[in-house]
Amino acid sequence: MPNRFIVGNWKMHKTISQAETLIQDILALYQPNPSVELAVAPPFVDLQAVSKLLTSTPIHLAAQNVCAKDEGAFTGEISPSMLKDLGCHYVIIGHSERRHLFGESNHMINEKIHAALHHDLHPIFCIGERLEEREAGHSLSVIQHQLQTGLAGVKTQDFHTITIAYEPVWAIGTGKAATVEEATEVHAAIRSSLSTHWNIDSTHIRILYGGSVTAENAKALFHSPHINGALVGKACLNSESFVKIAEISA
Ligand code: PEP
Repeated sequence: MPNRFIVGNWKMHKTISQAETLIQDILALYQPNPSVELAVAPPFVDLQAVSKLLTSTPIHLAAQNVCAKDEGAFTGEISPSMLKDLGCHYVIIGHSERRHLFGESNHMINEKIHAALHHDLHPIFCIGERLEEREAGHSLSVIQHQLQTGLAGVKTQDFHTITIAYEPVWAIGTGKAATVEEATEVHAAIRSSLSTHWNIDSTHIRILYGGSVTAENAKALFHSPHINGALVGKACLNSESFVKIAEISA
């Protein structure tokens, strides 16, 4: 498993034809590097088209969300097996927009983590504090709580399939990324919590930073030994900046 991992979260952007163009542009620019893994998370409706274009390429497909149920009367939801069938390897779970705009609780997120693991989908588990929580000095306790509730009941042997993304809510989409020091402090706390709470060797767990990562600030962030890569929003919608961030991370 490469130590560096760059994931592009397309959010609710790109129609099918726009998605195909973006992937073709990324593939044309990207020179695969064995030390970096790349994944893209397009909207659900684009997954099939993007999956076809990614066949036989080193870029992995991720979904932005998943239902915790296998099947049934859950209008508007997408199951883990549907995502597997489309070729998804990863799924983003607990993104702050899901938590704060769509009311996902730590308990729901925990159910989704278990459902994904059960179906061999690798979770990219997002955690992060809000601005008021940071200003009140509660960042680390919020993070600990999200970790412990979101990952409750996960078996030690499953941790190697989980990527954690620290995404401070105040840095997402604001153009105000965390400083290397701010991100490093939280990443180190996440590692120590994983070691003490689950008794695992957290050096093998990939912890990404997310929140206004650009080709300009990526180099400084990747200097931190605790930061294994990035979950990129806005900057991944442009093939050049997304590929540049991947190159910088190598
Ligand atoms: C995100 O939504 O995961 C994200 C990090 O967005 P942005 O890079 O635009 O801040």
